Amino acid sequence: MERTLVLLKPSTIQRQLCGEIISRFEKKGLRIAGMKMMQLDDKILEAHYAHLVGKPFFPALKASMMKTPVVAMCLEGVDAIAVVRFITGYTNGRKADPGTIRGDYCMSNQQNIVHASDSPEAAEAELARFFKPEEIYNLGDLNLDRLYAIDEN
Ligand code: UDP
Ligand code: MG
Repeated sequence: MERTLVLLKPSTIQRQLCGEIISRFEKKGLRIAGMKMMQLDDKILEAHYAHLVGKPFFPALKASMMKTPVVAMCLEGVDAIAVVRFITGYTNGRKADPGTIRGDYCMSNQQNIVHASDSPEAAEAELARFFKPEEIYNLGDLNLDRLYAIDEN
């Protein structure tokens, strides 16, 4: 089982799509191990998007991520990091495949509905950045027998 960070970006809050996007992850079979609203600031965004700090679009990206609070989620499942990236789709909503979240819900390269961790190393660092350990819950067996075959998890 893996855990990954998803952020519902301000574009999702502004367009009142939180329920729909959360529902897609739930229906896929990902389990919600943590979820909260939070207002991001310069410090957390400069760490979260450290790979983009020097880019010309960084100031606009930062402003767009502070426009409203975000919803931070810890999703878990077998291969959850790759599965969430796959159903999130390509960065630019105009180029993302139909059926992916970005392909179905946005026209923007920047205001693209969700953030999703892109590797196990990023997931670990990002979850530690956005959640205190006690904000991520141990769901135990819960519904694992409905979600996976016995030898899959
Ligand atoms: N972004 C942008 N312009 C670009 C590339 C990225 O505004 O040309 C924003 C966009 O919101 C994207 C975020 O920066 O989701 C992080 O970029 P990254 O390349 O990590 O894409 P992601 O992992 O989100 O698909
Ligand atoms: Mg990224």
